[in-house]
Amino acid sequence: MSGSISANLQNHAPSVPVDSLAKVPIAGIVRFSTLDYPGKLAAVLFTQGCPWKCAYCHNAHLQPLQGGAMIPPAALRHFFENRRGLLDAIVLSGGEPTLHSRLPDFAETILKFGFALGLHTNGMNPAGLQSLLPLCHWIGMDVKAPRTRYAAITGVAAFENVEKSARLLIESGIDYELRLTYHPALLAEDEVLETARHFSHIGAKSFILQVFRPQGCSAENLILKNPFKIGDLSRALTEKLAGLFPYFAIRNG
Ligand code: SF4
Repeated sequence: MSGSISANLQNHAPSVPVDSLAKVPIAGIVRFSTLDYPGKLAAVLFTQGCPWKCAYCHNAHLQPLQGGAMIPPAALRHFFENRRGLLDAIVLSGGEPTLHSRLPDFAETILKFGFALGLHTNGMNPAGLQSLLPLCHWIGMDVKAPRTRYAAITGVAAFENVEKSARLLIESGIDYELRLTYHPALLAEDEVLETARHFSHIGAKSFILQVFRPQGCSAENLILKNPFKIGDLSRALTEKLAGLFPYFAIRNG
C-alpha cells in the first residue's frame, strides 16, 4: 500500500520525495497554532509513543508505542502542499518524537516543503536529539524536576539523559527553550528552583515555567477544584527564576 501512495505522491509533487512520511507514526495534528513555536504560525504533528508516565500528561493516549489509526502519508503530503505559504513552521511533538529513528528523514521532507522545523522533546534520547539538531530551527525541551525527583514525576530515572540533551541543545546554537511544568501537588517551589539553578549552571539561557492546565489530563487527583493559577506562584520564586536566565517567562502549560 505504501508503494501505491508513493507513486501517487510523486505524480503530484515530483520535487519532494515523500516516502519518509510513511516511516514515522503520526497520530494527530493541530492544523494551526500560535502557541507551539514562539513567534511562528505552525502546525503540530504528534508522534505515537512515549515510555514515560508523567501524571500531568495531556496526551496519555499517545504513550503506547503502538497506537490506533495513524494519519496516512498521502494526507500529510496533501496537508503540507496546501499549507505552503500559509504556515511558517511544522512542529514535531508527541509522544516523544526522538524515539523514532526515521524522524530525521521525515524532518528533511518537511524542510523540502519549505517550512521551518520545530521540535518538542522530553530529552530522553540525546542521540536521537543530536541527529535532529542540524535540521531544527527551534526546540522546546522539557526539564521536569531536580535529579532526585525525576523518577517520581516521569516513572523513569532519566535525569542524566535529559542533562546530556540540554547540553547538546545549549551548545548547538539553535533557538530553544527549556520548560518545566509546575503543579503544586507534584513539586515544591524549592524543587522548581533547584531544577532551574541546575540548568542555569550548565548554561541554559531560556527557561519557561508552565503552570499545569487540566485540559487533556486524565489524573483526577491533579484536577483541583480551585485550579492553581500563575498568580498563585510566590513572588520570591518568580524573582529568583528571572534572575537565573537572560530569558524567563511564565505561561499556562
Ligand atoms: S514525557 Fe510528555 S508525552 Fe511523555 S508521558 Fe510525559 S508529558 Fe506525556
